[in-house]
Amino acid sequence: MQQNERILQIKELSISVNDKTIIENLNLNINKGEIHAIMGKNGSGKSTLAKVISGHPLYTIEQGKILFKNEDITYEDPDKRAHLGIFLGFQYPVEVPGVSNIDFLRAAYNSKKRNIKEDELDPLSFFELVNKEIKKVNIDNTFLNRSLNEGFSGGEKKKNEILQMSLLQSQLCILDEIDSGLDVDALKDISDNIKRFHNKENSIILITHYQKLIDYIQPSYVHVMHKGNIKASGNTNLALQIDKYGYENFM
Ligand code: ADP
Ligand code: MG
Repeated sequence: MQQNERILQIKELSISVNDKTIIENLNLNINKGEIHAIMGKNGSGKSTLAKVISGHPLYTIEQGKILFKNEDITYEDPDKRAHLGIFLGFQYPVEVPGVSNIDFLRAAYNSKKRNIKEDELDPLSFFELVNKEIKKVNIDNTFLNRSLNEGFSGGEKKKNEILQMSLLQSQLCILDEIDSGLDVDALKDISDNIKRFHNKENSIILITHYQKLIDYIQPSYVHVMHKGNIKASGNTNLALQIDKYGYENFM
């Protein structure tokens, strides 16, 4: 079977916040099994796009549509989108004192299970599952009993996002600057995990500034955003061009 099943379709999307237009007339199509990298200068609208796809309530939709597996989700709430299979790994994961990481992960996992009418996991069974996953991500299991993200280093927060992604097995994963603030070893770990996670059934949007991650992951497409729109799309050669000449040619 061809892998051309549409997962995400964004049509002529314009977004504003406090009357300021941030995304303007943006189109993007993602098929099952594809990885799309989105690059662009600071402030070009990458994180806004990520948040709008996952249903962040702050933004006003001025025009356009977002379809997920051919279903119009433009006005769906974030929970519904998560249940449908959209995951967002934040650029700045929030610290939640008082909520243990493992409780949070289990709540997210079980909420998904409930929604697809599968059995939830009791604490012990979940502990076994998460312990398997956490080894792959290469973080210490003492992280499970700490408060969610509290006092985690930049790299640890990012690895924790990857752990969530692996547990939830969402069909569309948006990773917003998953590489920022990582040392070379952590970058390698995270890239390996993304590659291990990726298969022909899921799709990934990889928002990044850096050539290095693109090198490791080898996405199917690379897009360049500027002023809230996609100015150029191509393959990994586009990322090489940017690495060499900067964003100047794409403004
Ligand atoms: P990127 O992720 O590409 O760096 P962002 O999506 O974070 O860009 O931001 C795009 C633009 O939208 C920036 O000019 C930013 O200041 C503006 N912006 C984003 N969120 C808000 C907000 N809540 N209020 C006002 N302006 C915002
Ligand atoms: Mg950003």
